[in-house]
Amino acid sequence: MTQNQWWKNHHWRFIQTNLREIDMQDIDAKQYVQDMLSFGATVAMINTSGIIASYPTKLPYHYQSPYLTGDSLKTIIEACHAHDIRVMARTDFSKVRRVIYEQHPDWAFVDTDGQIVDYEGDVHVCINSEYQQTYALEIIRETLTELDVDGIFFNMGGYVSGDYSGRQHGICQCGSCRRRFREMTGNELPRQADLADPVYRSYLMFRRETTTAYNRKVCEFIKSIRPDVLINHDTYTEDSGFIRQESNTAWDRALPHWQYSGSENTKWVRGSFPTFISSNTTVDFIDFPSRHVAVSPWQQALRLYQGLANGGMPDYYLIGRLDNHRDRSGFEPIRQAFQFHARHQELFRDLRADCRTVILAGDHWGGHGDGDMQEFFGLYRALTEAHHLFDVMLLSQVVRQGLAKYQTIILPGCAALAAETATVIDQAVHQGATLISSGLTGRRNERLDELSENALACLRAVKPLAERPARGAYFQLDDHAWTEALRDTDLVTIDGDYFYAEYPADAERYGRLIPPQPYGPPERCYSLYPATDYPAAARLHYGQGTVILLPWQPGRLFQRQGYANTAAFLSDVLGRIAELQPIGGNLPPMVESTLLYRDGEDFRLLCLVNGSGHFGNSFYKPLTLTDLRVQVPLAAKTVRSVTRLSDGEALPFSWQEQRLTIEVDRLEAFDALLIR
Ligand SMILES: [Zn+2]
Repeated sequence: MTQNQWWKNHHWRFIQTNLREIDMQDIDAKQYVQDMLSFGATVAMINTSGIIASYPTKLPYHYQSPYLTGDSLKTIIEACHAHDIRVMARTDFSKVRRVIYEQHPDWAFVDTDGQIVDYEGDVHVCINSEYQQTYALEIIRETLTELDVDGIFFNMGGYVSGDYSGRQHGICQCGSCRRRFREMTGNELPRQADLADPVYRSYLMFRRETTTAYNRKVCEFIKSIRPDVLINHDTYTEDSGFIRQESNTAWDRALPHWQYSGSENTKWVRGSFPTFISSNTTVDFIDFPSRHVAVSPWQQALRLYQGLANGGMPDYYLIGRLDNHRDRSGFEPIRQAFQFHARHQELFRDLRADCRTVILAGDHWGGHGDGDMQEFFGLYRALTEAHHLFDVMLLSQVVRQGLAKYQTIILPGCAALAAETATVIDQAVHQGATLISSGLTGRRNERLDELSENALACLRAVKPLAERPARGAYFQLDDHAWTEALRDTDLVTIDGDYFYAEYPADAERYGRLIPPQPYGPPERCYSLYPATDYPAAARLHYGQGTVILLPWQPGRLFQRQGYANTAAFLSDVLGRIAELQPIGGNLPPMVESTLLYRDGEDFRLLCLVNGSGHFGNSFYKPLTLTDLRVQVPLAAKTVRSVTRLSDGEALPFSWQEQRLTIEVDRLEAFDALLIR
């Protein structure tokens, strides 16, 4: 740990101007700073090095920009510093210009046909090449000694197999990869992604280990030159810092939009790395092919408010500069979100969720990750829309963070679990926590090898039998004692697979599976096969704790289709079987509610994010909501005041039996209520 952690005392409002090479032709330092100040930004990110050197470089393999006729980076950085704006250097070592590749063909990424990837004159280079392993460090050294930057960011680090057009080029077969993989595993490189192939599974571990080793090496190298420099996602040399994520859209991404992107990206950073700043950026543009047109201004605002509501900092990213950007539709709502943060910046720092529920997820970047992300997203939605208070933690951080804070742990289809992670979960359940697990859980280890018994001891009493497609099946509810949301239906629909298993005799069962039934012609659409004893949910005991098992994938179904039937099932599982206490009152499902606190202080911030503008696949201005009543379960001794931050108004409230009821007369896009 270094002494000079400037980021600990700097209010964080981040703007990334992703400069094109031509932006340096006529860039004006004064204008640049003025534009930053008009947003209240306190951190600017500027392209410096890698694919293009945006300053005069002495290094022969660092491609010199021919457009350096505007103010220099040195002048711009000085101007920023004069206004207390910190500057992050943006670098990208994933590609080199064709002319550099021609001098060093061995640096290139090579696909399974032996071809390189030349994208419009930029050639993809491999992480294991001499360029990234050695030469990039020289570029970093020059950048950090020539330019007085405060931090550094690496774009497209690690193993990159896709190009900007979304084409996938597979597993790199270059000489460096071949050599290194052989040295580490004794095997030849796999040519295809196939989880059934043990060599491919060991390649996945190889990728993970070499990426970690590379990141560590680069972070340590930087700290040896400039210990004061902040590095994105440096959990190697620092105990604090920043982790940057993106909320973005893409032409070819499957719908629905992940409408909690800003909230979820922030939750996992704050839940997994609580001493790090979460800087989740709203990406201005629609997709790479449409970099100059913005997504809805209200979508951008929503992402920023979701970030604030979950303890994150505002962050905006656009292509080019603010003064020459051609679609300015997002500027005003983004300014408003930044200014809200600026007005309340002393309150909005080092905040964490006040909650006793956590949902665990595989490592994921922008939604692409290990494990069943759709199941995770669906359960995330169900929790949010029923107003449960919860954290997200990456499975990789469970051992480090522990689970002692939580009463309820949710595993959404986490098929692969490391033995040490499983032990921490088992211990928490044994000591009294409730585990809710959906889909397939704990069937593989972290190397993705299949296990002969479940990674979780608390699930070993359940013996798996078979996995079968369940389209056309139902769950029959003979008993409505546990239902509230499901009170007017005797059936729950199911799609995807059902995971048949044998349960211990004392397991409590909820619902009975009717196996797939005929669904056409109408004359034949009735229960031909009788209901079985296979449950929709089962509850077992383990030590002092409880395990609730959902042997299907309700999260996936809800995320894809959003049916009320699935939402009602999940609501009853969470509220009635697991007995979680959500925020009550009359908040509609479209309002996300979070409760934040700061260690050692006795205030709470109740944040309300109005998502009512999300309609179909568009994001409009949210409706003004009126006459809201919010009931917050709160373990406080007393409540003296409730103040709405947007207008400083004291709101009427009542307080009894650890339950705070607040009357909120109106809610626009976002608000935070300060409870003292
Ligand atoms: Zn390679």
